[in-house]
Amino acid sequence: MQLYNTLSADERAELIDKAGKQRLTLSFYAYAKIEDPKAFRDALFIAWNPLEVLGRIYVATEGINAQLSLPADHFYEFKSLIEEFDFMRGIRLNVAVEHDDFSFLKLTIKVRNKIVADGLNDDTFDVTNKGIHLKAAEFNKLLEDPNTILVDMRNHYESEIGHFKGAITPDVETFRESLPIIEKQLEAHKEDKNVLMYCTGGIRCEKASAFFKHKGFKNVYQLEGGIIEYTRQINEQKIPSKFIGKNFVFDHRLGERITEDIISRCHQCGAPCDDHTNCANDGCHLLFIQCDSCKQKMENCCSPECFEMIHLPLAEQIKLRKGQQVGNKIFRKGKSPALKFKSSGILIDTPLAKAEKKKDKIIKAAIKKVIVGKGQHYYTKSKVGMFLMEEGEIYTGDTLLIYGPTTGKQEVEIVNMRVNGALAEKAVAGDKVTLQLPFRLRMSDKVYKRL
Ligand SMILES: [Zn+2]
Ligand SMILES: [Zn+2]
Repeated sequence: MQLYNTLSADERAELIDKAGKQRLTLSFYAYAKIEDPKAFRDALFIAWNPLEVLGRIYVATEGINAQLSLPADHFYEFKSLIEEFDFMRGIRLNVAVEHDDFSFLKLTIKVRNKIVADGLNDDTFDVTNKGIHLKAAEFNKLLEDPNTILVDMRNHYESEIGHFKGAITPDVETFRESLPIIEKQLEAHKEDKNVLMYCTGGIRCEKASAFFKHKGFKNVYQLEGGIIEYTRQINEQKIPSKFIGKNFVFDHRLGERITEDIISRCHQCGAPCDDHTNCANDGCHLLFIQCDSCKQKMENCCSPECFEMIHLPLAEQIKLRKGQQVGNKIFRKGKSPALKFKSSGILIDTPLAKAEKKKDKIIKAAIKKVIVGKGQHYYTKSKVGMFLMEEGEIYTGDTLLIYGPTTGKQEVEIVNMRVNGALAEKAVAGDKVTLQLPFRLRMSDKVYKRL
């Protein structure tokens, strides 16, 4: 999902007009003191339901966090409805046009303890007593003040691929973990320095700035709307970016390029690279940086062990995974001894390389596949290949991936196949399958079904 929050207000208005009956996707949040979240929830539900709002909304005594969609022609009505609540007046709505996303099938508004699971016990301080919000230009200006300390409120895998120059980038995995570490580091400067903080979209700073003020910091500032809104403003106002590299985002892109500078390395070979990926082994899923050539060589895996694992029959993989802790329970998120070029904590401010100026760089995603068999024979004259089904089942219409050292990586859809000599729609383990192939199939080839 692409959020069009890098558009100016006018551009957004145009987008909404054009969308007409199409659904818009919105996201927004606000911290506020809500005395009776249940009554607030009911009021929202009654007001929003007639506007055909669908989505997932959390309300808590600390505020609201909403992700929703609605018909574009209801947008302005919706906006005036939410602005009836004082604390949501002038709130920034991140808008996208969705064409085919059915992720929201109904309207759910849930009362939670928190609007973001930050793990903080913050009954002790006032979350609405936050730092001073700065726009991009003001932020840049305050950075020039030698009395300013700049703190990145994000995690190590986020700051590694991009951050503001000169920022403190704590080597942390969670937001909660970062707060006491930063407090300790800045303890001596509670009164004399400007503490300036930023995060991806601003929500973490809302909480963090209130926390630091509560801890006795006198001059606390935060970047309003985070890096996302900063980028929009610097583009609109043509002011220089003090941010270098990529902004890590939690959608399939895993990062949005802000400047052409690459400041991190492929974790496997050390080449300048800032493309994150998840390990293709379902039992691992480690988040790490991998360049295109390592991606090819390692088939999107983080280590030789994971590479071996994905080539095992599926049943074997599942057996091996049993009883094992998976994913980031095995590895710390984005950290593993297999990754030789991972950096965190102290990060560099000088670019290692410039990104190629390809407009739509296609990031190769891991292809989800399952092994079904191996190559047997190729009838050169009729261009027909034969393979043996070893496990699983395949059907006409499925897409096969045929990989091998000489064959390379081939992809073919099953239009017609013969199973043990006869035309059939389905093949299972033990069957010999023949089908026409536009390339030569070899004994060493592995046959996968694309999922
Ligand atoms: Zn590499
Ligand atoms: Zn792995």
